[in-house]
Amino acid sequence: MPESNLDTLLNIKKLSFMDLSQYSVQYLKGVGPARAKLFENLGVRTVEDLLYFFPRRYEDRSKLTPIDQLKPGEVYTISGEILDKDGRRTFYNKKHVFEAEVGDDQSRVHCVWFNQPYLDNYLHVGEKVVLHGRVDMFKGRLQLISPEYEIISKEDETLSMGRIVPIYPLTKGMGQRYLRKLVAGALEHRAKDIVDVIPSIVLERQHLRPIAQSIAQLHFPDNEAAQEQANTRISFEEFFFFQICVILRRMNMAQKKGFAHKIPPGVDARFVQLFSFALTSAQKKVMAEIRGDMENKRPMLRLLQGDVGCGKTVVALFGCLLSFLNGKQSAIMAPTEILAEQHFRTLIKHFGRSSFGKMRVALLNSALKKKDRDALYEAIAKGEVDVVVGTHALIEEGVKFKALSYVVVDEQHKFGVKQRALLSSKGQNPDVLVMTATPIPRTLCLTLYGDLDVSIIDEKPKGRGAIKTYHFVGEQADGVYKRVAEWVSKGTQAYIVYPIIEESEALDLKAATDMYAHFQKNEFKKLRVGLIHGRLPREEARQVMDKFQKHELDILVTTTVLEVGIDVPNANVMVIEHAERFGLSQLHQLRGRIGRSEKSAICILLGDPQTEDGKKRVDALIKTTNGFKIAEQDLEIRGPGQYFGRHQHGLNELKVVNPLTQLHVLEAARKEAIVIVKEDPLLKAYPIVRDTIHKRYPEYLERVLAG
Ligand code: ADP
Ligand code: MG
Repeated sequence: MPESNLDTLLNIKKLSFMDLSQYSVQYLKGVGPARAKLFENLGVRTVEDLLYFFPRRYEDRSKLTPIDQLKPGEVYTISGEILDKDGRRTFYNKKHVFEAEVGDDQSRVHCVWFNQPYLDNYLHVGEKVVLHGRVDMFKGRLQLISPEYEIISKEDETLSMGRIVPIYPLTKGMGQRYLRKLVAGALEHRAKDIVDVIPSIVLERQHLRPIAQSIAQLHFPDNEAAQEQANTRISFEEFFFFQICVILRRMNMAQKKGFAHKIPPGVDARFVQLFSFALTSAQKKVMAEIRGDMENKRPMLRLLQGDVGCGKTVVALFGCLLSFLNGKQSAIMAPTEILAEQHFRTLIKHFGRSSFGKMRVALLNSALKKKDRDALYEAIAKGEVDVVVGTHALIEEGVKFKALSYVVVDEQHKFGVKQRALLSSKGQNPDVLVMTATPIPRTLCLTLYGDLDVSIIDEKPKGRGAIKTYHFVGEQADGVYKRVAEWVSKGTQAYIVYPIIEESEALDLKAATDMYAHFQKNEFKKLRVGLIHGRLPREEARQVMDKFQKHELDILVTTTVLEVGIDVPNANVMVIEHAERFGLSQLHQLRGRIGRSEKSAICILLGDPQTEDGKKRVDALIKTTNGFKIAEQDLEIRGPGQYFGRHQHGLNELKVVNPLTQLHVLEAARKEAIVIVKEDPLLKAYPIVRDTIHKRYPEYLERVLAG
């Protein structure tokens, strides 16, 4: 073939295949610079991003419910025409109400929206709409309450009517119909350019469907089964790359050289004697695991899981001792100042004057004056401090160790991989112990943390009283407060916790502060009440905490700042308000603040769960106090997506019929990843895999590179 012909051929190839990960969404028909900006809010920059931008849910508009068949208490999707409308402010509380009558061929239904006055500009009489929402009985008639709405015009009926319709997460200024049209267009014109990034041998072995078809089915599914299959295919892709990185990381770690600690004979027994209590056998087992790792030249990277209060800190301190006895330094990083201080005090208490010689312990927090901080920096750099406890302040650039050999990261999920890596980088491949009180279900642990060794403390110290959990609805609150007052008068202390949800933080904060004021004048007039929340100046928060710890306060009204750490054994009552607004694991975490003494403890969940999941969460908490069981439940309710947190792909929000089926996908992906990486650790034969990791999963790559 003549040269020029070959050129043409190659060029044609270039033209017809487009790298969608380089092709800005801006150049799609109907987008342009302004819309491209909006897309950025959604994390969509390229056409590839758009194709991987999946619906948060679907509406089956192939069989809409006729209006005359609506029943109260259920959620429906209906379609009809706006027959009448009216927007106004209510007289006494100034709330805005927008009302409309919507009718189909047979019947009509009343609809209301609160505080959305702009609806008057959107919804007009004579228009055809699709509504999705809950039907309730109000004053003897059915009404749809604040339904999601969509105006339907003739031209988009093929995408928005008579089929399973995708509902996307939106940003202000962008509508469902626009997105649907755009995605459909991109699928029509660019589906041929979608590259299957999974190696073909894996595709074959796992009988995976073609990627383009799966993406199309996730946007516009033919039916539920097809959607589920497509979901499996996409999940496999995500999990596969995650696993590749996890395994690479593990191999990377294994090659590093750290410090091999010498273990003085009999050190375990002497360590155990520092405490007034006997260690549980689970604690001893983990101590041995840590000792083994620290003795080894290969740097330790160990995840220590255990429920709140099971005694992880004690075990972590053993590593500090080994480091100290080898003339090295250690660091403990905690997510809050309060927790850092608590660790600091524990260290002083047990090691301040022990038979091991004087261990020099320092607390580094952001409250230190510059002069003191500089002095401390210098002492750390000279090796005049043996253990440094602190918050994020520990990873500041100025902090330099002389010989850091052991690092503890408490509540690791509060820190990013980067922060953990930064702290480790202050030593030469130090041994690292990360601790978490949010247990990861056993079924998920290997697949999620295959790059870490895992230790588990699954045993509570002896002599801890049981925690009983009860649920009361909001209306019963007065009775609950009365009982709390009685219990507290007898000498115990209580927490009353309010949720803070980010988007309405100001409002939520008001709940805690208002109730604090209210309690002081009413239910708890004769008791000493304190308030603590995230906006309180640090010094003030510390004082309140201090007072509570010393039992100079009886009741602590608080937001979720309480979540981690706090150890006040005499506090044995907890009331969690609006419990339905917390996640299961978070509720469990909160509850772990009580039941820390031999007395039994009581946790009361106040709230009115609206959803099935909400009810399940409450039930799960009442039934068990075992963190691992709770985590399994949470997995069942929310699916494994929550552990990945890649909101930009919308994967978390996919409607997965049975999230547990995804576990099999996870395991299959792990198996395949192991095969690939084992035979080709540098992925030389898999340039697309390598490329995809760089482009699409930079956060995974970070994890590989972080030490
Ligand atoms: P975690 O860090 O797992 O939440 P901590 O290590 O802070 O738990 O321990 C919680 C409390 O239990 C502390 O007051 C600690 O002194 C105490 N503790 C730890 N281990 C035991 C044990 N084996 N027996 C009795 N009390 C213990
Ligand atoms: Mg702890």
